[in-house]
Amino acid sequence: MPRGGLALALFLLGGAAQAATLIHAGRVIDGVSAAATTNQTVVVDAGKIIAIEPGFRAPAAGDRVIDLKQGTLLPGLFDMHVHLTSEYSKHSEIDDYKLNEADVAIDGVVYAERTLLAGFTTVRDLGDEYRASIPLRNAINAGKVPGPRIIAAGKAIASTGGHADPTNGWARKFPSNPGPEDGVINSVEDARKAVRQRYKDGSDTIKITATGGVLSIAKNGLNPQMTEEEIRAVVTTARDYGFKVAAHAHGAEGIKRAIRGGVDTIEHGTFMDDEGMKLMKERGTFYVPTLSAGRWVFDMAQDPDFFPPIVRPKALQVGPQIQGTFAKAYKSGVKILFGTDTGVGKHGDNAREFKLMVDGGMPAMEAIRVATSIPAKFLDLDAKVGSIAVGKLGELTGVPGNPLEDITAMERVVFVMKDNTVYKAP
Ligand SMILES: [Zn+2]
Repeated sequence: MPRGGLALALFLLGGAAQAATLIHAGRVIDGVSAAATTNQTVVVDAGKIIAIEPGFRAPAAGDRVIDLKQGTLLPGLFDMHVHLTSEYSKHSEIDDYKLNEADVAIDGVVYAERTLLAGFTTVRDLGDEYRASIPLRNAINAGKVPGPRIIAAGKAIASTGGHADPTNGWARKFPSNPGPEDGVINSVEDARKAVRQRYKDGSDTIKITATGGVLSIAKNGLNPQMTEEEIRAVVTTARDYGFKVAAHAHGAEGIKRAIRGGVDTIEHGTFMDDEGMKLMKERGTFYVPTLSAGRWVFDMAQDPDFFPPIVRPKALQVGPQIQGTFAKAYKSGVKILFGTDTGVGKHGDNAREFKLMVDGGMPAMEAIRVATSIPAKFLDLDAKVGSIAVGKLGELTGVPGNPLEDITAMERVVFVMKDNTVYKAP
């Protein structure tokens, strides 16, 4: 972390004046405007953007200059669907029996830093084990470890045998009847209790699994796994605590139940039908497509031994479908938020989603907006982050070249700033 220069400058100044960081940007995409601007200086002082001016301002004594003249400056990116405390691998099924809280927590610290260095300064963590995303969030907020701002769901809420039942596939000699506290509900009463438990745990948002999923040790990846009444009970209780609700959903029926039940986002949405898209537009529900996850599980399933036998057919069925659904949903006017489901797939590869979105027909500038100002507004963080404007926090990402011409530039982040600290510099 190249922070030494700034610290030295402050020392030489006797701590009198806080040195500013001047970013000389060949191009600025502010996250809101329809067009980029060129050759700008963005000045960050004490963690905030204090000036944006044309040309390359000469530094005052002690100022730090970031030379991004050959690149593009963007707001810090948002990934609205990650799992920071885990990363799926060939041995994930057996890990489930071996890992303790501390293993998961330490993994989370490592993956949080990788995510930040990939340019993502805010993430929604949609499901963990041992509620590990919550102390991770707190440690990052306290400046103890580097990482993105985390909007944490804690443990996701499922039904018995459902996609986030933490005991799926376990032999009966292990404890195997989890309840609302562990995120397993089977009634409206359970639904309310599970949400209130998450409030007590310190969650920021609620995640439910409305249908089967690919990676769980269970046969069906698509079937509805909650009643509409259970989903509605989750949502109405969540509102009492100021929580939004994200619903994992692959099959058409579960997607529609979740939308009618009032959730704020549909995650994956793989087999969304025309009626589902119409409902989303009527209700203003956002779609988080997670194209990266669909691609990754399909690619990994080409190796017949990578997934457990019960998972592989689901990966082959669900994976390739999401890209087409996204293309259709975007074209039809469904509101989109950028999200990858990273944890499925490697942490730090989040930005590969941009190329998949552009391949699905979304213009590059729109793909950037759904990863910056639009999620910031969704999360009620837009007064602070999500765009490059005077008064906003200095949460910034830089990439080489021009991502509007080559969207894969987003995968080659060279500059990251957050909390008045430069974590990566060209
Ligand atoms: Zn997920």
